[in-house]
Amino acid sequence: MGYAEITLKLPTDYSENLLRKRIAEEISDKNFSFKIIRRSLDARNKRDIHFLARIGVTSENISGNPPEIQKLEIPGKQRDKKVVVTGCGPAGIFAALVLQKAGFSVTIIEKGAEVAKRKEKIAGFEKTGSFDFFGGYCFGEGGAGTFSDGKLTSRTKTISLEKDFIFDTFIKAGAPEEIAYETYPHVGSDNLKKIIPAIISEFKELGGKVIFESEVTEIFKSGDKIKSVGISGKSTGKIEGDYFIFANGHSSFKLYKLLISNGVLFSTKPFAIGFRVEHLQEELNFSMWRKRSLPGVKAAEYHLTADCDPGHAFTFCMCPGGRVVQSAPDEISSVVNGMSNYARDGRFANSAVVTPFSLEELAGKEISAGTALDLLENMEHKFYNFRNSFDIPAERISDIIHGKKNAKLPESSFSFSLIPADLSEFFPQTVFERLKKGLEIFCRKLDCFENGVAMGLESKTSAPIKCLRNQDLTAAPFTNLYICGEGSGYSGGIISSAADGIKTALKIASII
Ligand SMILES: Cc1cc2nc3c(=O)[nH]c(=O)nc-3n(C[C@H](O)[C@H](O)[C@H](O)COP(=O)(O)OP(=O)(O)OC[C@H]3O[C@@H](n4cnc5c(N)ncnc54)[C@H](O)[C@@H]3O)c2cc1C
Repeated sequence: MGYAEITLKLPTDYSENLLRKRIAEEISDKNFSFKIIRRSLDARNKRDIHFLARIGVTSENISGNPPEIQKLEIPGKQRDKKVVVTGCGPAGIFAALVLQKAGFSVTIIEKGAEVAKRKEKIAGFEKTGSFDFFGGYCFGEGGAGTFSDGKLTSRTKTISLEKDFIFDTFIKAGAPEEIAYETYPHVGSDNLKKIIPAIISEFKELGGKVIFESEVTEIFKSGDKIKSVGISGKSTGKIEGDYFIFANGHSSFKLYKLLISNGVLFSTKPFAIGFRVEHLQEELNFSMWRKRSLPGVKAAEYHLTADCDPGHAFTFCMCPGGRVVQSAPDEISSVVNGMSNYARDGRFANSAVVTPFSLEELAGKEISAGTALDLLENMEHKFYNFRNSFDIPAERISDIIHGKKNAKLPESSFSFSLIPADLSEFFPQTVFERLKKGLEIFCRKLDCFENGVAMGLESKTSAPIKCLRNQDLTAAPFTNLYICGEGSGYSGGIISSAADGIKTALKIASII
């Protein structure tokens, strides 16, 4: 048996039969097995939009050896050490799963609720506007990753083994197999609500424990070691451990402040802020494909960048056929984000339009991590204070560009209300100028862009601070404390955060 990789150009609505026929033609053999390695949509020529697929084929008719497949190695053995993981998001789950597989006794503490309960709480929040600390978009089983859009992309280059492990785990838990080969893999919020509990079940079957609806509110230390954490909520008391992982995400400023007050070292870091923009998906499809729909492709998606001289702006976390959601971290802040289901069949498309930003730019001087959190919190409060509610300020993109004010707003997918506003009043001037310039450039790149609406605030692209990490990944000045995932400031998004959790777990497993 030989192996070769071939690249095929395929119509967007190709069938399995056509794919097999094309492979047979290419290798001049009807007996073969194959695996899609990578697939991307090529829409550069609007009259010839097609898939490009890289395919690994095994057959007697070809020579060549398959590439060696490397797998993540988890050093499993009997161990008598306890690990306490705070946070049940992608980073916490994957750190916990790997450590449990490696033979540790792992307990996850999560302040939010399980997925089923969270679903009800989110529905209640969107109906009544009454915020629930145990079940918003940010907190609970699966973390911010569960009710997310479920895009599984990552630009981090050094996590290929971790990424394969995450995709294998997701597929085993029910994710569609195509995530392993799509250039822009996407599972959707509906699938995540099944996948995350399935992974947690696997963790529990291995002996892991999860304590939901209980918040870590205290840290007990002795010298350079954490001894236990104090929890309150549904469960109370002290949880002791040998190693402590904080995988707390970047929405819980209360926990950041607890870590800082206990001496954990953080510094400020640049991140990106801006607004979310929304368009009609059909108009966007037409702009990008010159067709209102394309058989075999769910919905058009874009990734835009703009050189704003000085600085730049870019689109981020695009959710084709999705919804804009209120992902407030507490009852007096307002922050938007986007999600979509697997089918991506909603009427609207949204994405973040953001620009790199440092809170030091706002303060005009060097500031501590604690001050950075206060400043960002103030910005998030400002959006809430606009109407003392989760309704959000919004402005037509055409009005922003042409300097008009308060035109009637278009229909939106947002579950609260859009209130006409002058968005320039909500951002530092230099930030707004960059965002405006970015919008102007995006309007030149995509002809329907001007028809959209911008709304704020988008502030959770990544963490505004990062912990001081030692080479052994411990968080200074402690020797058994690890901060991983988005809250650490070293990752952003589901995949890189989960990968950071895995790297942290493997580091701990390498100690003993
Ligand atoms: C609506 C939305 C859509 C998104 N879409 C995408 C997407 O499509 N693709 C993508 O890559 N990323 C997306 N993201 C971002 C992604 O969800 C995060 O990057 C990712 O979840 C970070 O993982 P994490 O484990 O580091 O942190 P989190 O997922 O934030 O998890 C941290 C967990 O820690 C818990 N916690 C915090 N403090 C405490 C405490 N004191 N005690 C106990 N528990 C605590 C929180 O409740 C939370 O569950 C989206 C985010 C949102 C909100």
